[in-house]
Amino acid sequence: MTLHAELHRHLGGSVVPRVLWRYFQRNHEQLAAQFPDYPEFEAFYTRPRNTLEEYLELHTLVESVQTPITLPYFVYRLLRGAYVFENLAYLELRYTPYLRTSPDLSESARIDQMVDIVKIVGQSAQLSEYPIFTRQILCMHSRLPYAVNRAIVDLAAQLPEYVCGIDLAGGDLQYRERLDEFIALYRYGRSLGLNTTGHLYETVDGCYPELLPYLMRIGHGIQIPLLYPELLPQIAQQRQCLEVCPTTYFKTGTLENLSQLKTVFERCFASGVDIAICTDNAGLHNVRLPFEYENLLTQDVLSFQELQACQDAAFRHAFAWPYPQQPTSMLSQLLQSPDVFLEDSPTCVSR
Ligand SMILES: [Zn+2]
Repeated sequence: MTLHAELHRHLGGSVVPRVLWRYFQRNHEQLAAQFPDYPEFEAFYTRPRNTLEEYLELHTLVESVQTPITLPYFVYRLLRGAYVFENLAYLELRYTPYLRTSPDLSESARIDQMVDIVKIVGQSAQLSEYPIFTRQILCMHSRLPYAVNRAIVDLAAQLPEYVCGIDLAGGDLQYRERLDEFIALYRYGRSLGLNTTGHLYETVDGCYPELLPYLMRIGHGIQIPLLYPELLPQIAQQRQCLEVCPTTYFKTGTLENLSQLKTVFERCFASGVDIAICTDNAGLHNVRLPFEYENLLTQDVLSFQELQACQDAAFRHAFAWPYPQQPTSMLSQLLQSPDVFLEDSPTCVSR
């Protein structure tokens, strides 16, 4: 049995189409009327978009129904699916808490409400029947004001029991004019001891070397091996792992063919840059993590050995995995010496 670590998954994009459609039918008259038939909804929801901007628009549909009241419903189904179908042992779940607050409140009241959102998500993710070690990454957003993003960084530092890092999301076209602001926010986050990742070098418009020094992992980063391979030695030296989400690039029109993806992996391996394979939006794509792995193998992008290296890298670069080893090696040790386990367990000894 293999257990996996998922480092890049959005709370909104994690909702699989069937769960979202059922939610509309049961609880949302207007959206239920807009999407009366499931097959048509699935086709609409999962179809490829032309650009990243167009793709990100789709997130607003899910965000509009993820409220303080409904979040436990969605988080429960997310973890249940991830445990049963994906064998996840570890999950970093990311989202912008501000976008789950009540839109009818003032900006400052919404900022105050963010703490409730993080606690609701954190408590909903603690499920004894689906024991995945789950932590949150809070996303600053390129379309939100500075005050909101700064409050997101503060909140991440306030709740280490639920939050393991910060991210920057929301469309990379918008970074340019506010670059100094985002650098300052990352610098501030690092000064508070926060772990950092950021959506960067995903598209040709999203290449900002100025942000690289502040990131411990790079969300996507595929344009580095494709367009700026000269940066790879420094990425390797800084031990910055790339969070590569293969299906995304074909849903956003960022890549056109698999040979480009093969180049990403080949150049990173050759330079000693670690890659964690992730889903980004497993629900929106209808592609779960084991299928991302399988697709890369069957389409000859990776060998089994290379896949395993990426799976190991995911645990190594996890911001909050609490054990020195990954669970597969812990399990195999246990299987090799079950006596140790039996002696340690009073229940088993008495039996
Ligand atoms: Zn993402």
